[in-house]
Amino acid sequence: MVESTLTGIAKYKEELAATVTAISRPGFGILAADESTGTIGQRFAKINTENNEENRRNYRELLFRSKLEDGISGVILFEETLFQKAADGTPFVELLKQKNVIPGIKVDKGLVVLPGTKDENATTGLDGLAERCKNYYNAGARFAKWRAVLKIGDGRPSHLSILETAHTLARYAAICQENGLAPIVEPEILTDGNHTIEVSAQVTERVLSQVIKSLHEHNVFLEGCFLKPNMVTQGADCPVKATSKDIAWLTVRTLSRTIPGAMRAVTFLSGGQSEEEATLNLNEMNKISQIARPWALTFSYGRALQSSTLKAWGGKQENVAAAQEALHARIVANSQATKGSYAGGAAGDTESTYVANYSY
Ligand code: 13P
Repeated sequence: MVESTLTGIAKYKEELAATVTAISRPGFGILAADESTGTIGQRFAKINTENNEENRRNYRELLFRSKLEDGISGVILFEETLFQKAADGTPFVELLKQKNVIPGIKVDKGLVVLPGTKDENATTGLDGLAERCKNYYNAGARFAKWRAVLKIGDGRPSHLSILETAHTLARYAAICQENGLAPIVEPEILTDGNHTIEVSAQVTERVLSQVIKSLHEHNVFLEGCFLKPNMVTQGADCPVKATSKDIAWLTVRTLSRTIPGAMRAVTFLSGGQSEEEATLNLNEMNKISQIARPWALTFSYGRALQSSTLKAWGGKQENVAAAQEALHARIVANSQATKGSYAGGAAGDTESTYVANYSY
């Protein structure tokens, strides 16, 4: 066989597109299990479980040994987990591959305050990113995540925060693609505040159009890239609660105004919604027929997939099977929601998973 002489993104184009296609196939979505050590500590604190390496490993093993194959095509991992092994010595990456689940990796290094703004944020992690991507690819990862955060209210988001987050998302995406990882581009507009759903729609439209412009400017290959947006909802403190139908309609309308069909996979974050709300909202979007939907609309949920699982587990070995059942119920419900066929009523949490000024 002749060695390929292609370099950079050309070498990986086919693989990047294949990764996106495989992950977003009908009935499948992503489990975001990439909580940083600090964030998983907050989750464990709620169930009185110590945040040590063994408990983190046990919890992730519980997740990865569940019946993921019924609706999960990709799992986002934190760096520690990518290199961890199950109790019997099987590398987690192998465990996932055996279930036809593609391992992904969170590559950003968290948020800092963007100087000159009202407490808006920039995401760090570009330094050394190409080298890290090479290592992650060699370890079996095929996609990556980078979370940018924007805020609404008090004049925000500022033009500067939109430019900064769009620019760094595009830089990150281009670096990932050069190294074989399909990037999840995540400009998360937080729900903190009392804004209406209409304001969320306007802001999301402004942000997404700038993100797409930046991706073009950085020559990002859209077919080999995921978009992970917030759904368009009212602010957490807005007294008027929108229905699932309103949320679905305004979210799909916003996407149709901003996202080219070449970007084939939209994988939503849950952003503080309850498990059931996140599923119902996704389901409603996949029922819409009045607006063309050239992209797969699926999930990449963290809190809305794990909330009842964590409660059922409670940090105790004897609860592992019950926790896996709770996760499975959400996997099946969300799988149906990707096809617009969820009838509601799957067991699960209706409690909000909202955390003010959320960091991941
Ligand atoms: P939530 O679904 O909990 O919002 O998190 C998903 C995620 O990956 C955020 O970066």
